[in-house]
Amino acid sequence: MITQHEQLTNHITRFVKYPGFPGQNYLKHLLFLLVIFSYSSLFAVEKFYFIIRVDDIQSRTNWEPRRITDFQEAVESRGGKVSWAVIPHRLIETQNSDGQLIRDLKASASRGHEIVLHGYNHICPTCGQSGHEMYCSSTATHHSYEKQAEMIRQGMDILWDSLQVIPRSFVPPGHKADTTTFRVLLDHDIDVISTIGSTRDTIYEKLYNLAPNSEYTWTLSESDYMSKLQSALSDIESMRQSQGYYCLLLHDPFIRQGYENGRVIAWTAELMDSLMNRYGRGLAFVTLSEAAEMFNPSPVNVEHAEYSNPRTPVLHPNFPNPFNPSTSLSYSIPQDGHTTLTIFDISGKPVIRLMDTYQAAGNYSLHWDGTSADGQLVSSGVYLFVLRQADKTVTRKMILMK
Ligand SMILES: [Zn+2]
Ligand SMILES: [Zn+2]
Repeated sequence: MITQHEQLTNHITRFVKYPGFPGQNYLKHLLFLLVIFSYSSLFAVEKFYFIIRVDDIQSRTNWEPRRITDFQEAVESRGGKVSWAVIPHRLIETQNSDGQLIRDLKASASRGHEIVLHGYNHICPTCGQSGHEMYCSSTATHHSYEKQAEMIRQGMDILWDSLQVIPRSFVPPGHKADTTTFRVLLDHDIDVISTIGSTRDTIYEKLYNLAPNSEYTWTLSESDYMSKLQSALSDIESMRQSQGYYCLLLHDPFIRQGYENGRVIAWTAELMDSLMNRYGRGLAFVTLSEAAEMFNPSPVNVEHAEYSNPRTPVLHPNFPNPFNPSTSLSYSIPQDGHTTLTIFDISGKPVIRLMDTYQAAGNYSLHWDGTSADGQLVSSGVYLFVLRQADKTVTRKMILMK
């Protein structure tokens, strides 16, 4: 079997030996560099994605500090992001009537952290227990589609009313969900789940799963601080090799032993520092949705019809993706017509229109330098680029990662 490298070498040798070619030496050097370059890209470091998932925001306690910001700042100052699995009902409970949690979570979302839907209120409608919700694990019975859809919708409504957030990902309460839950999630445009089972894979139709890994800080004492750090680092290394990602699980730091003296925050920060030392630029701290996007890039609403109907424009994946700060976008339009290409942020707000003119059928490509219409560099996150011609619209997602 002839390898790609041999093919490349043969090709170059033939080309360079072509008799009488002017500037042969110069060309030789150039091609040598090209070979080196293609070699080095073969050895490009595979990215390793690290997710910090914090469940049960926020539990009922009067322990101080009650705010999420201390933890968030420790993560953020290291270039990290938190995926907060929020129990929506907590936002409207009397313990949180001062509105502080809502303000903190809203600010968090605007800084690129993710709000993940975590059920509705953590009370099972069948048995009334609080450890599970979407599926009754104590009576081993399934809730109907209507029952689960009601819980998901109520949860989404609260997130929207309080935070103006539409969640993209879901964490099942008590790690319990069934195929009915999956169906309900997809019907509500939630296409990422973080649950047990297949590690990272499409779990059901278009629903992508990124399973959580261990939790080390449920209780964290001074005496097991170092040993837990060591075992986390070795678990993380083996998951890096086998899966390319690690999802660290924590629970609401307000109630976990070690929060009130800052131990959980210090531990998480020390873990992140060790990871950065160990993996350097190969490491990327991302949210659940961003990681899912990386592993499972998928056009948002590209129907199969796009490929069978030649009159529909085609939007190609941007390159590079993720990018920082610029990326190249290309598309093909099958007929002449007025064409627009617009970038939106994940909440659907237009960022900039890159193309708005009459174009002839053909292939086009253009650059986006990561700035908005008013010339500001936009923040890290998921963006949509939308190509429109006549009544045809195609959309893709891309990720700006700084
Ligand atoms: Zn139950
Ligand atoms: Zn929970």
